[in-house]
Amino acid sequence: MNRKVVYLEDFPEKIDGAIRTKDYDRETKWDVRFLKLAEQVSSWSKDPSTQVGAVIVRADLTIASVGFNGFPRGTSDDPDIYANRPLKYERVVHAELNAILSAKEPLHGCTMYISLPSCARCTACIIQAGIVRVVHYHADGFGSTDWKDSLQIGQDMYQEAGVAVCEIHQIGDHLVPF
Ligand SMILES: [Zn+2]
Repeated sequence: MNRKVVYLEDFPEKIDGAIRTKDYDRETKWDVRFLKLAEQVSSWSKDPSTQVGAVIVRADLTIASVGFNGFPRGTSDDPDIYANRPLKYERVVHAELNAILSAKEPLHGCTMYISLPSCARCTACIIQAGIVRVVHYHADGFGSTDWKDSLQIGQDMYQEAGVAVCEIHQIGDHLVPF
């Protein structure tokens, strides 16, 4: 099982703003940092119902690309289109695919940070782009929406493709600050 679940409640101890518990390893520290960045990027989306942010990070912990959900460059951003769900779904580019398409380099070996779990279509693109690890927030409630089946198909594909998945649970609404 190539899947890791991190509960930030397991790491409550803070000293001088830093996490000092020995289990709060370096990988988790960087995972939280980049996931917070993905959350920030999600706020750039104009979609009034769901904002998603994605950050693609190279093996040396530098950033290759970012993306958020929105309509293609140069097309209408009219709020009426966002309000028309079937039309929105046809036109929108999800955060993950936007991040892949905005990258200027091959993404083999990179990690993708996403503020929500990825849908099946994005998962297929993430796998094909050669991304080897995905870190996302656990999204309470999101898994029971219209996206439920799509998320499960995505998780199944990650498993089959050998992509490592890390799901991070927040403390309440906030990540542990650094
Ligand atoms: Zn998607």
